[in-house]
Amino acid sequence: MTDPRRHLPGVDRVLASTAFAALLAEHPRQRILHHLRSALDHAREDLARGTDGPPPRIGDLAREVEKALALDRIPSLRPVINATGVVLHTNLGRAPIAPAARSAMARAARGYGNLEFDLERGSRGSRYVHCVQLLRELTGAAAALVVNNAAGALVLGMNTLAAGKEVAVSRGELVEIGGGFRIPEILVRSGVRLREVGSTNRTRIADYEAAFDTGDVAALLKVHRSNFRIEGFTEEAGVAELAKLADRLGVHFFHDLGTGLMMDPAALGLPGEPRVADTLANGAHVVGFSGDKLLGGPQAGILVGRKEPIANMRQNPLCRSLRVDKVTLAGLEATLRLYRDPGRALREIPALRMIASSPEELLGRARRLAAALEARGVEARVSPGSSLVGGGTCPGVTLDTFVVEPTTGARSASAVARRLRRGEPSVLAPVEKDRLGLDLRTVEPQEENLLVERLVRACLPDID
Ligand SMILES: *Cc1c(COP(=O)(O)O)cnc(C)c1O
Repeated sequence: MTDPRRHLPGVDRVLASTAFAALLAEHPRQRILHHLRSALDHAREDLARGTDGPPPRIGDLAREVEKALALDRIPSLRPVINATGVVLHTNLGRAPIAPAARSAMARAARGYGNLEFDLERGSRGSRYVHCVQLLRELTGAAAALVVNNAAGALVLGMNTLAAGKEVAVSRGELVEIGGGFRIPEILVRSGVRLREVGSTNRTRIADYEAAFDTGDVAALLKVHRSNFRIEGFTEEAGVAELAKLADRLGVHFFHDLGTGLMMDPAALGLPGEPRVADTLANGAHVVGFSGDKLLGGPQAGILVGRKEPIANMRQNPLCRSLRVDKVTLAGLEATLRLYRDPGRALREIPALRMIASSPEELLGRARRLAAALEARGVEARVSPGSSLVGGGTCPGVTLDTFVVEPTTGARSASAVARRLRRGEPSVLAPVEKDRLGLDLRTVEPQEENLLVERLVRACLPDID
């Protein structure tokens, strides 16, 4: 008997076939060749393993290659409907961008711009002038600098202010911010020496002061507890106290705030969350925060504060490695501009609007979505639930909401969740106690029809 592998058609014969002529008319030859070779490899392996069945015919190969070509078209990074109720979902890209900022980003991406060009003088300018005026106006800072992200801002700040010297930090703030980003390790990589003060649960101003008796402390660092809480027998030195101490001893005071709240926290139902402006008013020399947390803009690291330290950070060669791109700057500028009218910021910045959505409004939306599902044959009930601000911010804060719980029929809730996740567009929906619970807080109203379509397809047994 001859080796069945010999019955596989050769590449040249396959490519010359009419079935492949149609594919060649529409797709790059290189991609077709790539997929055809792997289809033939698989067939050869199957035949070698003695799998039953005849070798694939040219028509089978064409279908397989066509499927692979279709997969080629799916981008790796794609949109997801976020029905988790976690507003600043780090794994889903944190803050969705405001329409005005999206337009500005598209405009900046489309062509050339005055990123580093002074149009008045007709000579080279600096990318670090953009957003500065707005940031000063909105926070009361004397100076501002925008870099790639807040972790980078901290590295740049520490390296500029205290390279080769000590930085005093409370033991209660030597935390992991997320994704393996640990304050002690970052400080060491920034070229400064860590001087731990106080204890995990209690650090007093006297603990910082004592650090000056020995060593050479060049800066005080306060890290905002943005992603965890310490409860019970606790004490921490406040920003105002630390500022006074830093000024008296003539050292820098950097506050890594992270969250970057610009709005009145009461308007968002987040009492106790410090605003950037308040932190500066309390005396922090430099404050570092993210562009894509409670500010609700694109990913960026923002430094605001006194003139001299910020100017030194701008001069630091590390600044070049952390530099922000034009699309981000355009989006950030447009987002900041919205804050000139706080009412407009609240209406138009998606993260703020989502956080501020009232339970009554969410109940209405949940009921309408449930009714739309029922009309399509998917039973659904509405139950109270809780949403999170997310993004490693506002620990312990939950926002009251209502979730839509569709009946998943013969399929388990997690099987339906998997179908939702893997479909197009992808939908992320939490499962708890074998029930799906969709929180519309993080779903844009214009996504709701699409969400109904996806749910119907994923829940009903006779579709797909
Ligand atoms: C989130 C956070 C950071 C890191 O911000 P990125 O913009 O994600 O780099 C740093 N410090 C604090 C306190 C944070 O909350």
